[in-house]
Amino acid sequence: MPQIHPLLDADTIAARVREMGREISRDYAGEEVVLVIVLKGSFVFGADLARAIDLPVTIDFLGLRSYGDGTESSGVVEITTDLSKPVEGKHLIVIEDIVDTGLTMDYMFKNLRTRGPKSVKLASLLHKPARTKVPVKIDYLGFTIDDVFVVGYGLDYAQRYRNVPFLGILELPEEPA
Ligand code: 5GP
Repeated sequence: MPQIHPLLDADTIAARVREMGREISRDYAGEEVVLVIVLKGSFVFGADLARAIDLPVTIDFLGLRSYGDGTESSGVVEITTDLSKPVEGKHLIVIEDIVDTGLTMDYMFKNLRTRGPKSVKLASLLHKPARTKVPVKIDYLGFTIDDVFVVGYGLDYAQRYRNVPFLGILELPEEPA
């Protein structure tokens, strides 16, 4: 069983998510927004952030599969579950777990903009700037982290560890040369 070294504990995450919710509530005061939760990794962050936002919101989900090996995205992205309703004329906030190379969000933003929303912004819990391949503007950011592979709070490795209540660094066994 691989080790998980704690990086951000549940209280630290909860406090930051509440702040992000307050910021979003201030910025969109008087408006209605659609929260687009990116599956699967953002289901925990999305659930907490949604409850920290004091605005009329609707919630939709977008399932993405980003091809690559275990820990690296290739930039080839497939929509596995599409939004349930058109978003033309709506304010969208995309809720993402982590921006790593930026390839997934770059694809996603290009795709969403073709649907004629009034605005599209990004709320990401984590960002790994050291790994940027395509710069992506993160409007609401939880935490900047180093180039480490994290699990927990919705994030997986091979579909496991999503239920771990904190964020930790997964120590993977050495790969054979
Ligand atoms: P990007 O396209 O920005 O390279 O990758 C974004 C996606 O890769 C994230 O939505 C996430 O699914 C996955 N990813 C990137 N870094 C990590 C990480 O440290 N841990 C986990 N569990 N997934 C990651």
